[in-house]
Amino acid sequence: MTVEPPRAVSRPPGREPIRFFLPGPCYVLAEVRAQLTAPVVGHRSAAFRQLYAEIAPHLPPLFGTAREVYIATGSSTLVMEAAVTSAVRSSVLNVTCGSFSERWHTISRSLGKEADRLAVPWGQALDPELLRRALARKRYEAVTLVHNETSTGVIQPIAELAAAVREASDALVLVDAVSSLGGVEFQADAWGVDIALAGVQKAIAAPPGLVLVTTSERAEARMAKVPHRGFYTDLLRYRDQHRTGGSTITTPAVPLFYALARQLEIVACEGLAARFARHLALRERTAVWAEERGLEFASAAAFRSPTVSCLLGASRGSAPKLVRSLSERGFTLGGGYGDWKETTFRIGHMGEVMMADLEDLLAELDRTLAN
Ligand code: PLP
Repeated sequence: MTVEPPRAVSRPPGREPIRFFLPGPCYVLAEVRAQLTAPVVGHRSAAFRQLYAEIAPHLPPLFGTAREVYIATGSSTLVMEAAVTSAVRSSVLNVTCGSFSERWHTISRSLGKEADRLAVPWGQALDPELLRRALARKRYEAVTLVHNETSTGVIQPIAELAAAVREASDALVLVDAVSSLGGVEFQADAWGVDIALAGVQKAIAAPPGLVLVTTSERAEARMAKVPHRGFYTDLLRYRDQHRTGGSTITTPAVPLFYALARQLEIVACEGLAARFARHLALRERTAVWAEERGLEFASAAAFRSPTVSCLLGASRGSAPKLVRSLSERGFTLGGGYGDWKETTFRIGHMGEVMMADLEDLLAELDRTLAN
């Protein structure tokens, strides 16, 4: 009897090897890409409503919610902006620990909000006690967090942080789950998250251009009292169109819906628990490989991301050189981000990356490092 190796180890028969390890957008399977050529239908047609209805039930389990999930055409930044516009009248606390959490702050300020920053050193996670103290000093309508800080490879303890917010205040908890959703467990309801959002191009591994967002009952009640929520940025409008029309608020990127529908079937086929376990296994393998070669993580050991590993180059400037060398050998890695551009490189081991793909990359990295 032949025993099938677990899917985390093997590539499914006939599947092309993945050489693309950017921490998003991620590699999209050929059968999913093929969906992009399906005939375009009108977004108020029965055909589109049926497509939307096929997608909808797959989404709440990703967020760990019993509530509905809405879909926006755009990039994640659009929905970060929509969340602040819809849910914050004036005061917001932005927890920052890397480029994408800082984006929440840039957005909040650009919208004219009274935005304060609770800054954590890059590579670290936030201590919930610091959050409690900040909330005791001042009242905020909302706190923004990033679940998985893609720029530093840190996963934040959202359950503890959201609990701290709820204990210390009545602020809404707004979470960017862009590079965790679909690769890491997320429990919006159990953790007390009020708004959670994620683009589909990272651990879900669909083509970029669609964003998923879910809102708590409490958030919806607050949003209803916020004036000037805009049109495209009004999350209540997404909810209403979802409930009454089973569709999107404006013309969506229809081909991307076909691709998302197929990719969600693939995700369901693997099962979320198996998918989360595979991402953890990829992180562990990367950590063992790095340790054996004396390479250090830029992220704190207790908070290393299951979807992206951020490693320090052996010397300043060596990380970008490594990324370039790998690219010449047909492998795409993520370079360092923002302030860490020259000193780090990132391995995006998310989406459809299997252990066999990662092993190919690590072997190539070994050959390059040996040179
Ligand atoms: N938040 C996180 C954690 C991200 O990783 C990214 C993109 O990499 C974004 C937000 C912004 O996403 P987009 O470029 O799709 O707007």
